[in-house]
Amino acid sequence: MTGVEHAGDQFIAGQWVGSTSPDRLPVTNPSTGALIDAVCKGSAEDADAAVAAARAALAEWSGFPVLERIEVLRRTATILEEKVEDLASRITDEVGTPLSLSRDVQVRRPIQVLRALCDAGIRMSWTEQLGNTLVAHEPLGVVVAITPWNFPLHQTLAKVGAALVAGCTVVLKPSEVAPFSSYALADALVEAGLPAGAFNVVTGTGQIVGEQLVTHPGVDGITFTGSTAVGRHIAAAAAGTIKRVALELGGKGPSVVLPGADVAAAAKATAARCFTNSGQVCAALSRLIVPRAELAEAEQALQEFVAAQTVGDPRDPGTTMGPLVSSAHKDLVLSYLEQGVAEGARAVAGDPYRVDDGNFVAPVVFSDVTPEMTIAQEEIFGPVLSVLAYDDVDEAVEIANNSQYGLVGAVWGPDDDGAAEIANRLRVGMVGINGGRINVDAPFGGYRQSGVGREFGTFGIMEFLETKSLNFSGSEAIRRPAGLP
Ligand code: NAD
Repeated sequence: MTGVEHAGDQFIAGQWVGSTSPDRLPVTNPSTGALIDAVCKGSAEDADAAVAAARAALAEWSGFPVLERIEVLRRTATILEEKVEDLASRITDEVGTPLSLSRDVQVRRPIQVLRALCDAGIRMSWTEQLGNTLVAHEPLGVVVAITPWNFPLHQTLAKVGAALVAGCTVVLKPSEVAPFSSYALADALVEAGLPAGAFNVVTGTGQIVGEQLVTHPGVDGITFTGSTAVGRHIAAAAAGTIKRVALELGGKGPSVVLPGADVAAAAKATAARCFTNSGQVCAALSRLIVPRAELAEAEQALQEFVAAQTVGDPRDPGTTMGPLVSSAHKDLVLSYLEQGVAEGARAVAGDPYRVDDGNFVAPVVFSDVTPEMTIAQEEIFGPVLSVLAYDDVDEAVEIANNSQYGLVGAVWGPDDDGAAEIANRLRVGMVGINGGRINVDAPFGGYRQSGVGREFGTFGIMEFLETKSLNFSGSEAIRRPAGLP
């Protein structure tokens, strides 16, 4: 699956080829610091070749009837399913996710997302008749997908699956930190019968390969997941050629506990959603907003939750939290802990002064956090939970919405209807009501600086479609393009 097993490690026009650049990028295991392998530090020429291959394959792949495209992707899901153990193990080595969690969230979940996209492709309306007009959806064209490291296969399949169902061809630039599952995906797509050139992988840095792809005149659309800073840059760079851009960016998820809710249960469930993957989750719930009268009960529950965590070797079955992805990222998270203390927050669980060896950071919960503090505003992307107290529900909503982000939120209340009323007032793209989980058929994405566009299901596929009105001279549209479900 790594470059060692292929003739080269750029996948272009259905072939594993070398880069035009001799440079390599090391990929290291964040748990041990050991070198796993190295991948091509791709060149602008590699990116150009991949775009040309995707452009050349567009007529063939978009000409496949939708049902046949979906069949290829269903076979891909089956092939990937046979590799759960291998993929989970490799992603644990790259990212540090505890192995048992990797099997579920790093591998099985993305396969579920891919299958849901296949079902959505069958369910959705590819045409609509409006009087004398047939409204038809057509593939957007050549799509560039740029992904981060924290859930490498998940982010890739959410984008690539949707674009391929839509009939687009794809150039993927995976994160240089966690590139190997994209090789397995390329192999699976080939085995499943995807035509050469419909999917291409170019490894390398954002500065060289990414930049070339997002400014390339032969690219019709970009789908990006990553930091808000890079997303902002990509949107601006893509504006030069007016490409469609979908962005899945950062978050600072609020979790609002309403009076009368089971505060201990809500606090523990929020902490679980904050510390998963050591907090390196865009959809983490990293701000717990509780009634002031129930602050002590929430703190006690969080102390119990933190005490039950085991930070360490992600291959040890007893480990609940692995390392952070790199020493640079660890330093950043530690700097937020320092800042939390300096700005007057009170550590109520975990030790903000503790420095472990390697890339490990144990979870910390700060209470007495106020909305203007850095730890209440910035995405830390580490195991740090901020607890904010409120006096009335309007203030809770105001605190929750006091953010540049708007990806995900949660509301906990004595009944679903009351909680849903508050959920409707949150400026976020997804809200869990009394523990409701993210659904692979429903739109995934954020408001405000958490992004533009949606992934998953029919909404995810629509990101990669153009819309055409065929206006017939008669009073009614009567034709339907062939091959639609
Ligand atoms: P990042 O923004 O540093 O990198 C993401 C990708 O962009 C990488 O492949 C990188 O090589 C590429 N890139 C960097 N500079 C580029 C440029 N100039 N042009 C084109 N591409 C460029 O993010 P990361 O550190 O890999 O991931 C962490 C971030 O991702 C966090 O902020 C997190 O919130 C966000 N994230 C968001 C979601 C979501 O769905 N909203 C999901 C996961 C992660």
